[in-house]
Amino acid sequence: MAQTGPQVGVIDAVVVGGGMAGLAAADELASRGLSVQIIEAESEVGGLARSIVVGGEEIEAYYHHIFPQDRELRDVIERLKSQERLEWRPASTAVLDAGRLYRFDTPLDLLRYPPLPFAARMRLGLGSVVVLLGGRGRRLERQKVGQAGPRWFGARGYAVLWQPLLEGKFGPYASDVALAWLASRMRQRASSRKRGTGDRLGYLRGGLGRLARSYAEDLAARGVTVTCGVRVDSLALQGGTWRVLAGGHEVRTRAVVACLSGEKLAGIAALPEPYLRTVSQIPYRGVVCLLLELDRPLGRYYWTNLIQRTELACLAIIEHTNFIPSERYGGRHIVYLTHYAEVGGRAWEASIDQIVAAVEPALRAVNPSFARSWIRGAHLTRDRWAQPVPLAGGPMPRLPLETGLPGLYHASLAHIYPDDRGVSLALGLGHRVAAAAGEWLAVSSAGSTATL
Ligand SMILES: Cc1cc2nc3c(=O)[nH]c(=O)nc-3n(C[C@H](O)[C@H](O)[C@H](O)COP(=O)(O)OP(=O)(O)OC[C@H]3O[C@@H](n4cnc5c(N)ncnc54)[C@H](O)[C@@H]3O)c2cc1C
Repeated sequence: MAQTGPQVGVIDAVVVGGGMAGLAAADELASRGLSVQIIEAESEVGGLARSIVVGGEEIEAYYHHIFPQDRELRDVIERLKSQERLEWRPASTAVLDAGRLYRFDTPLDLLRYPPLPFAARMRLGLGSVVVLLGGRGRRLERQKVGQAGPRWFGARGYAVLWQPLLEGKFGPYASDVALAWLASRMRQRASSRKRGTGDRLGYLRGGLGRLARSYAEDLAARGVTVTCGVRVDSLALQGGTWRVLAGGHEVRTRAVVACLSGEKLAGIAALPEPYLRTVSQIPYRGVVCLLLELDRPLGRYYWTNLIQRTELACLAIIEHTNFIPSERYGGRHIVYLTHYAEVGGRAWEASIDQIVAAVEPALRAVNPSFARSWIRGAHLTRDRWAQPVPLAGGPMPRLPLETGLPGLYHASLAHIYPDDRGVSLALGLGHRVAAAAGEWLAVSSAGSTATL
């Protein structure tokens, strides 16, 4: 068991999960003077933002970039004195449709998009402005994008542009996703343009996995116990104390802050019926991501959305080294192929060779000379709990941080709504859930002092 920091009898709080939300939760609790232990199942902290090594340099197992509005993340970067590693670079976007690549960086590119007739482009552009101005109203939370989308964006524009992307991300749930989610996604890009960085996105040199490790080291230096490589097997409340069973050891604590998916939490704790029912109504998609190391560049764009379907429904080709120079990775050109998948389905089970074969027509459309001999290394990463589905009328907008059990608090990707998941939002959520737990601890301590 890799562990740092001191341990005591009954501690104030255990944080389950050392992803970005769990690290921020521990930070918040420690800053309130509470004794805290983080328990992380993997050998390192970082969760979905963890890194692997390519060409001697760390890089995220899943592509990650930073938006200018990612305030919580920028704050952590500054506090950990890593700001000299944060860089802002142009990040070009394209769409691949029926074997042809179209640049898609600005609203003007949408208005010029050749696969759509002029009237459909205008309708799509107008609908996008109206949705963007439509705010965060509850109205959009209840509207299914499959029904509302054609009305807002025009049937043709929706079918040609949005529907394939939503299907790639949410599969069978695509039509039932809330329009509020799509509006928030559109706002995210529009807002980063407004902040004056144009099409520049941020990247933290050396990857976010390294930042997560520095964060854990900083927490350990402040007295937090950080335990990695140990899965929490069960959480049980006995006589007002939580017994946390992890890797054959028991930790006793007054409060637990669980920073993982609802279904995972339900697997280790007997959740009260209303909360269990609520979290069970949120479907999750898994992610299967293949990172290819090529010996030469593939195309010229950073991010290419695939409107044309590949055999295993690849959503995007992300050429990281069209964003960050390949010299940093020993001259390797890095391409991520991303698939959101049903667990147990064909994409979920696929081998590296099967994925490359399925995406090859799209890789050839990006660069007709592409050959498999260009591939010098490949890394396949899968996560079961990668993307909650924000169903219209579903429970995500009002998912509580309290589980209904005294001292058990919960934060997951599904608690972020209507925005899509993100490192900065996970950090903010971690602070919020820990603040709620910290207040509960303060009130319950005051209560027990009063009875003494
Ligand atoms: C393909 C992909 C691309 C992304 N791109 C971006 C991007 O460009 N920019 C951005 O900001 N965000 C991006 N994200 C989202 C971002 O990575 C997540 O929002 C964020 O990392 C979530 O952090 P978290 O702590 O909430 O959850 P997680 O990272 O899922 O952390 C949960 C942790 O709990 C641990 N755990 C689970 N069960 C147990 C147990 N029983 N005991 C102990 N530990 C347990 C897990 O090992 C994990 O470390 C991307 C995500 C994916 C999947």
